[in-house]
Order: sequence, then structure tokens, then C-alpha cells
Amino acid sequence: MIKNLVEEHVFTAYEQLRGHFPEFCGCDTCRGDAYVYALNRIPARYVNTQAGTVITDFNLDKDQNRAAIDVAMMEALRRVMLAPRCGKAPPKV
Ligand SMILES: [Zn+2]
Repeated sequence: MIKNLVEEHVFTAYEQLRGHFPEFCGCDTCRGDAYVYALNRIPARYVNTQAGTVITDFNLDKDQNRAAIDVAMMEALRRVMLAPRCGKAPPKV
């Protein structure tokens, strides 16, 4: 089973970081846009796993990679928050 470890961490980063952006909409469209924005900016890191194997952050070789993913997700949340495509009014800043 082919898995992108970066994808796993992007999902985790989303859960951890969205609280920092209270104005972020968080609907399916906005969440998907945030994932896509972050994933398109981080090189994929694919592994071939046995079915049922638990992927942990341990598999990402360097803390550096995780930091880069966190930064990309922060930027993603900020951008989607300021220009949501779902029709929600952007926050007045
Ligand atoms: Zn939305």
C-alpha cells in the first residue's frame, strides 16, 4: 500500500494548528483547500507499507520536515481563511 507520509503529517498539522486561526471556516471546502495548499508545497515522501501498519511521525526522518509542514499548514490556513471559496465572508482585518 503506497502512502505519502507527508499527507499524514499535514492532517495532523491541520488539527493542531487550526485552533490558532479562529476565523478559519473549517467546512469541507476550506479544509480541503488548506490540505491541498500545504501538500502542494511540500515534496511528497512515499513509503510502501503492509496493510494495517501504523504510520507514525517517527517515519518522517527529520524534525526539519515536520517544521516545514507546520509552516506550510500555517500559511495554508491563513490564505484560505482570508479568501474562503465556500462563500463564507472573509474576516474583516
Ligand atoms: Zn468554508
